[in-house]
Amino acid sequence: RKISERHDKVFVNGCLDPDTQRDAPRANAAFVVLARNQELPGVVESLKSVERHFNRWFHYPYVFLNDGDFNSTFKDTVRNYTSGTVEFGKIAPEHWGYPDWVDHSVAKEGIRKQGDAAIMYGGMESYHHMCRFYSGFFYKHELLRKYDWYWRVEPEIKYFCDITYDPFLHMERANKTYGFTIAVKELKETVPNIFRYAAAYKKTHNITSKGLWEMFVEPKEGYNQDGTAKKTDALKPEDLPKEDPKYEKQKPLPEDILRTEPGAGTLPDIDPEAMEGEVYNMCHYWSNFEIARLDWFRSREYEEFFEMMDRSGGFWMERWGDAPIHSLAAGALLAPSDIHYFRDFGYRHTTIMHCPANAPARQLPRQPFLEATTVEEKLRREEDEYWAKWDAPKENGVGCRCR
Ligand code: GDP
Ligand code: MN
Repeated sequence: RKISERHDKVFVNGCLDPDTQRDAPRANAAFVVLARNQELPGVVESLKSVERHFNRWFHYPYVFLNDGDFNSTFKDTVRNYTSGTVEFGKIAPEHWGYPDWVDHSVAKEGIRKQGDAAIMYGGMESYHHMCRFYSGFFYKHELLRKYDWYWRVEPEIKYFCDITYDPFLHMERANKTYGFTIAVKELKETVPNIFRYAAAYKKTHNITSKGLWEMFVEPKEGYNQDGTAKKTDALKPEDLPKEDPKYEKQKPLPEDILRTEPGAGTLPDIDPEAMEGEVYNMCHYWSNFEIARLDWFRSREYEEFFEMMDRSGGFWMERWGDAPIHSLAAGALLAPSDIHYFRDFGYRHTTIMHCPANAPARQLPRQPFLEATTVEEKLRREEDEYWAKWDAPKENGVGCRCR
């Protein structure tokens, strides 16, 4: 069986009556939203979805963070779409932007080059700052100090199944540290050296893997991700479907991008021995959704990990995302049993989504409700009809009322 199945299963199958949760205790937790004023429409879209599918029953508080000031339109609108208390915080300058130990002109030049190389977001200074903030600082914000758990929300996300149980309490009970709903592969050119530094952290701190690190290591030829040998009766090249000349082959990355060495930091180059021949498979938890324990990020081990990664200069000389940073930190410091896969959360951000096993494969055709007068009434009737067919989870299904 897969590693994830051995250590982790869905917390709740199908739907609970959310009304029964009304008086249940709450976890010490909050939603965390980093955003800018101009992202208000995307934020509202996310809040509607979060409230509709979860927080209208649970009323967890929100913490909004910004490196600038939120204006009153942003604040008033947000308050209008949330059923929990809301706090707005400004990020301190020491948690955002260049620290004084980095040569700003070297870092800016590094970012400019990534822009020229058309690396995704590579030339965007603010994006580098955002990634570094989410990697090493968000959990230090004074508004988050009182919380043990957070649930990250971004503009333009969508939940499409009802979440009728409290994920924080279930994480707590199951002794979980980090929860995800999507794992994808990182763009290689954004993190050419990230794995060397993460591996060096492991080595210099004498950390032995608790079994999760292997999830991020490219399996050797003839082996599967879980370390088992591949079956030898695999398809022979001549049995494979022929390449379709219609599709252009993905171009290999230019050599000089892969050879880029972080240079703005203070760390000497890492001993290649530290890698011990391991190669990053580019897998990472997609961190725009996260439910996790804040005290893990605040631990000495995570702090040392972030410090080492940060000092390499990779947040500027490359475009390290907070997603691979969180993931490799988890790989180094956590065990598979510390991770929870929210396979029952229907979730979408931009073009990538996760669809639970019992979600309807296609939308039912929309019926006109000529006798209904208001739009709201039309939608309600349409929904009722829809859910009459979908309320019960399918056998072995997960997720509740996915739409
Ligand atoms: P993507 O999902 O990787 O395409 O990146 P986003 O543009 O969605 O940024 C990730 C998160 O950081 C979102 O919550 C954004 O609102 C937020 N964000 C990105 N850049 C900035 C910034 O310069 N200032 C602030 N306050 N938030 C930012
Ligand atoms: Mn985003």
